[in-house]
Amino acid sequence: MEPFNRPFMTGREFVYIAEAYANGMLAGDGTFTKQCHALLQQQIGCAQALLTHSCTAALEMSALLADVQPGDEIVMPSYTFTSTANAFVLRGGVPVFVDIRPDTLNLDETLIEAAITPRTKAIVPVHYAGVACEMDPILGMARQHGLRVIEDAAQGYGSTYHGRPLGSLGDLGCLSFHETKNVISGEGGALLVNDPALGERAEIVREKGTNRSAFFRGAVDKYTWVDVGSSYLPGELIAAFLWAQLQQGEDITRRRLGIWQHYHDGLAALEQRGWLRRPIVPPHCQHNAHMYYVLLPSLAARQEVIRRMRAAGVSPVFHYVPLHSSPAGRRFGRAATPMTHTDALSERLLRLPLWIGVDRDLVLRTFVDACTAVCGSL
Ligand SMILES: *Cc1c(COP(=O)(O)O)cnc(C)c1O
Repeated sequence: MEPFNRPFMTGREFVYIAEAYANGMLAGDGTFTKQCHALLQQQIGCAQALLTHSCTAALEMSALLADVQPGDEIVMPSYTFTSTANAFVLRGGVPVFVDIRPDTLNLDETLIEAAITPRTKAIVPVHYAGVACEMDPILGMARQHGLRVIEDAAQGYGSTYHGRPLGSLGDLGCLSFHETKNVISGEGGALLVNDPALGERAEIVREKGTNRSAFFRGAVDKYTWVDVGSSYLPGELIAAFLWAQLQQGEDITRRRLGIWQHYHDGLAALEQRGWLRRPIVPPHCQHNAHMYYVLLPSLAARQEVIRRMRAAGVSPVFHYVPLHSSPAGRRFGRAATPMTHTDALSERLLRLPLWIGVDRDLVLRTFVDACTAVCGSL
């Protein structure tokens, strides 16, 4: 069976883990963590990068840093992973869902304005499949209404918008290094701080509400509990693993783009026949090949394509159940707009296996055969 995902290893992970072991320093914010921070800052151009346990943890930190209070509203897409909303619900915030654009499947920036109320605190654009949201209008609207912008860039490492790296555009950006993403550490993530005014508090929130980071820098002579916080920093073994991956970041993106383009070229003819729609990437968005998806004609067609591909030994997957129609989404959030595209596209989307080392010809052939059998007889 060709799996949906297999984590890519650079070969250097063990070398650095052995080094961390030999150093005998396993808690967070050691040598490897600092190296990862410096490299991320250089690659992304953010003022400050802080490793976290996950993108979920980075989003939770963002909710604390944005001072989300019970009843505050957070504008976001419904077509996303649960953590985008959960992080704010944990603080009593209310996710306010808006529909997505039919081309990129990203938050439709033209619908945000109508969703803003006096309770709105922040906008959370999610860069779906590593393709940027329309950040210039979103940032402009946020400035005009005094709102925070928190990028869910879980899928966006290595992507740019008008040449600017994702995660560097909002007040805060959140990356994921989960095993299913491009650059990985098993579980892992980072908070990117772009508003320098949030930097010191970000360190405090991440270090159990203490000013320990300032103490280690020699900025204060003792450390103590100064604010609300939790433990969001990973240990050195995770950072050592990630250090190997981050150094290969560009190469990983390049190799994934090769597979993405292979699928894209191979499916042009099927799109011309009207059997599917391929991903649309606007010219000013350089993506990172996080995902290759197609939109099939219907839910029934998707089910039958999946059945046929599995029978032929390939595992495609789909996602997401839109949050506005999920049990928790209905309880904690609300839809600010009709969810026409979210509802329709989430039923038709299919993701092909895309990982370094995947049998790209097998995946493409299996999909083309299944799609031809299903759509050719519609
Ligand atoms: C993967 C993902 C997350 C969660 O990332 P973790 O590192 O697993 O917490 C959040 N948002 C989006 C859009 C994701 O794809």
